[in-house]
Amino acid sequence: MTKTDLLIINAKQLICPSDDENKKPELKIIENGAIACSQGKIVAAGHSTEITEKFQAKDVFDATGKVVAPGFVDPHTHPVFFGTREDEFELRNSGKSYADIAKAGGGIRFSVRQLRQASKEQLIEHALPYLDQFIKNGTTTIEAKSGYGLTFNDEIKSLEVIRELNKIHPIDLVPTFLGAHEIPDEYRDRKQEYIKIVTEEMIPHVAEEGLAEFCDIFCESHVYNTDDTELILTAARKAGLKLKIHSDQLSSGGGTEIAAQLGAVSADHLDHVNSESIQSLKGIARGTGNRFQPGQLHDPVHAIDDDAGVDLYGNEAGRSLVSSNGSCCPRHFKK
Ligand SMILES: [Zn+2]
Repeated sequence: MTKTDLLIINAKQLICPSDDENKKPELKIIENGAIACSQGKIVAAGHSTEITEKFQAKDVFDATGKVVAPGFVDPHTHPVFFGTREDEFELRNSGKSYADIAKAGGGIRFSVRQLRQASKEQLIEHALPYLDQFIKNGTTTIEAKSGYGLTFNDEIKSLEVIRELNKIHPIDLVPTFLGAHEIPDEYRDRKQEYIKIVTEEMIPHVAEEGLAEFCDIFCESHVYNTDDTELILTAARKAGLKLKIHSDQLSSGGGTEIAAQLGAVSADHLDHVNSESIQSLKGIARGTGNRFQPGQLHDPVHAIDDDAGVDLYGNEAGRSLVSSNGSCCPRHFKK
């Protein structure tokens, strides 16, 4: 009999990843399942009788009538903000475009004005209930972006908030630096100067202090075009950060190809991705994940799935994820 720290037994269903790593990400479901944990890690999973015959523990949790599943991982969140923008959701539903709203000072620009006024303590307090909500819904890890500060101090403040949240909340946060989320209002006519601050001041500091694991960018012709994107992400990669891109969100613009070229971990949004861009993700040895956010703005997923010959649920381009930020279109979940 092996001694462990914790047994979770009698689960109505125990949900495990498939044993075969090369197969599509299918789930293996064990009826009346159990797991044994040691030092915070699962050391065995199987039928309750089999596990209780082999393992014993001081703490035994009886999960009768419950489902035991791995925690969800949300790979794209912006949890450090101050004040919500649900009124913009209404505007979008009534026909205003994301770009119209941004031009009028809304969108990210609104969030930036709010965040700059808030202290670290206020931002922490504001974020905590959302993190509770994640945990309540089974999400145990989130990627967390800065990007509403857009000054050296406010970007660093946001990343420090994420670091603090990671310490004080049970959820795991994986930080991403998104200093190139928008062009700050005060740099609208001199974008290159801001890019210099991002590449020469912010990125080196973020990397040196270990404040982020990833660097992300909003690649869109009216914000950061493909040249800007390449410049910023190359600087980030040199500094040792892994890469992500918000690409093809408002228009089809080449960001997804850059994600593939630079070996980004993911290309996110892809509302307007075309089949060439999708093809560029194929065959990338490291596997750039394409992450769709259905329903946030448009509904591109069907077009890609049907026309580009790319299977969204475990394709050659790497692991695909369908993230449900914003809202979602139910037909994506029929599969
Ligand atoms: Zn985003």
